Amino acid sequence: MKIYLDNAATTKMSKTAIDAMLPYLDTVYGNPSSLHSAGQGAAEALWQARQRIADRIGALPEEIIFTSGGSEADNQALLSAARIGQKQGKRHIISTAFEHHAVLHTLKKLEKEGFEVTLLDVHENGIILPEQVEKTIREDTCLVTVMYANNEIGTIQPIKEIGAICRTKGVLFHTDAVQAAGHLYIDVKEQNIDLLSLSAHKFHGPKGIGVLYARKGIKITTVIEGGAQESGRRAGTENIPAIMGMAAALDEACTHMETCARRVRILRDKLIAGLSQIPHAVLNGDAEKRLFGNVNFCFEGIEGESLLLLLDDKGICASSGSACTSGSLDPSHVLLAIGRAHDIAHGSLRLTLSEENTEEQIDYTIQAVNEVVTYLRSISPIWRDLVNGKKEFMIT
Ligand SMILES: *Cc1c(COP(=O)(O)O)cnc(C)c1O
Repeated sequence: MKIYLDNAATTKMSKTAIDAMLPYLDTVYGNPSSLHSAGQGAAEALWQARQRIADRIGALPEEIIFTSGGSEADNQALLSAARIGQKQGKRHIISTAFEHHAVLHTLKKLEKEGFEVTLLDVHENGIILPEQVEKTIREDTCLVTVMYANNEIGTIQPIKEIGAICRTKGVLFHTDAVQAAGHLYIDVKEQNIDLLSLSAHKFHGPKGIGVLYARKGIKITTVIEGGAQESGRRAGTENIPAIMGMAAALDEACTHMETCARRVRILRDKLIAGLSQIPHAVLNGDAEKRLFGNVNFCFEGIEGESLLLLLDDKGICASSGSACTSGSLDPSHVLLAIGRAHDIAHGSLRLTLSEENTEEQIDYTIQAVNEVVTYLRSISPIWRDLVNGKKEFMIT
C-alpha cells in the first residue's frame, strides 16, 4: 500500500490542471510580450487566467502578480511594505513566531537593515488573538504579517479581524495564505487584506508558480529586475503553462471546496481519534480551528525522524513538520512557539490529508503509527527512564 499523507508539503497535480497546461507546453508557445499572433494567443490566455484567479479571491485582475511561488510572493510582499514604511519613517513590523521561513528569514534580513520586528507569542492552541496585534501596533508600525493557516499544525487565524484592526490603524496587512488558498474561503476585500501570497502546488496545481495579491495603490518593490512584465512589478517571461495549470486548479479547488472539506474532515477526525488512543501522545494545535486535512501529534519518548523512516517502510509518506526543516536537527520552530519542550517537539508527526485518501488508508495508518511508536519506545533509553520513573512524563 502507498499512502500519501504529506499534502501540506505538496499535492499531486489534478488531471484538470495537467490538461489545462498541455496546450501551452505544445501548440500555444508564444511569448505574451510578442506582438505577433502567436504571442497574442498566449497574452489572451494570460489575461483570462489572471481574471479567473482574481475572481476566486475577490480581487481585481491588476492586483494579481504572478511569482515563482509562495516564497517569492512572501519575500516581495514584505520587502514592498518595508520600503513603503521606510519612506514614511516607519520601521516597525509585527509578525508571529510560527510563520513560514519565507517570512521569518525575510524579516531577519529587514532587521539587519534597521527594521524592528516584534514576533507575537502564539497561544498553546496555535492561534493568534486580534487583541495581541492591536496592543502591539505602534505609531511607527508599517506592516503586520500573520499567516492564514499554519503549515505544520494547521491552525486557522482570525484574519478578517486582524485585517480590520490594521485597516483602522492605517497599517498594511499581509497574510501568507499558501495553506489556505483552495482550501478555505478567501475574499481579500471582505477580509481587509492588503497583501496575500498563494502557491499553486498546495492545491493540486503545478510547482514553481504562485501569486502575490497587492491591493490597488500599494507600491510594489521589484525583487527580480528585467523586463516590464506584470506591469513592471515582476520581470521575466511569464510561465504560461504553469499559470494556466494554477488557474484551473484553483477553480477546481474552489468549486469543490465544501464537499472536499466535509469528506476530508471526517477522515481527519477519525485519524485524530485513533492516534489519541496512543498513550503519552498529544495533538498539536486547536482541534476545531484547523485545516480540514491537518493532523499533528507529539509522541513522548521517540524521535520524529526514525518514526518517519519506519512509516515510509510501511508505505506511508508523512512528515515531522515542514519539508523545509527536515534534514536539520533543530526541532520545529512552530512546536517551540506553541510551548512544546525541545524533547517533545522532536517526537512530532504531521499527517496531511487530501480528498484522495480513503477510510481504509486511515485505518491502516492508525495501526501503523501505533506499531511504530510502540517499537521505537521499546528500544528508547529515554522511554525506559520515563517508565522506570527516573524521568517525569511531560505528556500525560
Ligand atoms: C509551502 C509554503 C510556502 C512556500 O511556497 P513555495 O511555493 O513552495 O515557495 C510558504 N508559506 C507556507 C505557509 C507554505 O506552506
